[in-house]
Amino acid sequence: MKFVSFEGGRIGVGDGDDIVDVTHLVGDGEPIWPPMAMVRFVSQFERLAPEVVGALKSAPRRPRASVRLETPIAWPNKVIAFPANYHAHIEEMRSGPGLISTFKADGQGFFLKANSSLSGPNDPIVLPDLLDREIHHECELAVIIGKTGRAIARERAYDHVFGYSCLLDMVVRGREERVMRKSFDTFCPVGPHIVTRDEVANPGDIDLALWVNGEQRQKANTRDLIVDIPAMIAMASAVMTLYPGDIIASGTPAGVGPVRGGDSIRIAISGVGDMTLDVVQGELGAHSVWKK
Ligand code: MN
Repeated sequence: MKFVSFEGGRIGVGDGDDIVDVTHLVGDGEPIWPPMAMVRFVSQFERLAPEVVGALKSAPRRPRASVRLETPIAWPNKVIAFPANYHAHIEEMRSGPGLISTFKADGQGFFLKANSSLSGPNDPIVLPDLLDREIHHECELAVIIGKTGRAIARERAYDHVFGYSCLLDMVVRGREERVMRKSFDTFCPVGPHIVTRDEVANPGDIDLALWVNGEQRQKANTRDLIVDIPAMIAMASAVMTLYPGDIIASGTPAGVGPVRGGDSIRIAISGVGDMTLDVVQGELGAHSVWKK
């Protein structure tokens, strides 16, 4: 199944070009703030699954293209991200303009991105007003946690996965704190939907690709991850409790590069999703902290 968010946090389920609104399964359907209905839905999915299947059979459908899709999980408990998780990307960062990584992800761990940097498949990526700085795209797989857990063994890791989505980890290159460079609003597009884990035959063999203005910049397969998906879950949960709706960004392969206002970024992950996002130059973001 594929789950989408739309119209202020409503929940849709689809198996093709149509969706069925199942928001009522976790609330009265009125838009409420903060928009956490999807987190609640993911946490109760095992219990709700039969009702979702029933809704797909009998409830009214609407064309998915007729609704404005939002980021699938707008208010997760956290967004965990793995750095430098492909050998070829580490090599390019050692010689590039950005932070020089001396440790790989298996020896370095992970970081957090601000939840407020999440945006959806129809939202443009708004670049901050830092015209003398490079702002890069990073093409990543989003792993969506489905079940609460701490100290999760890698053998049980997939039991805690709800599904997968496409994720862009946008970043201002430089030596300032990584969280700040990666947490501008719209710097974490996720979408266009969540594919439940039963639909992904082998998470250890997923092709990812990214294009800017039609030119391919990144191409990888999850088999080349240094820290694979079970290891990410084991490492993160060694430190912190993972909750339903938590998002783990897999780390990017080689081929990162700058984007500018007017660009168009497409990310496609086989069996997971495909979305194209506009990049626009914004007016906010300038601050003396960026002046060196
Ligand atoms: Mn990244």
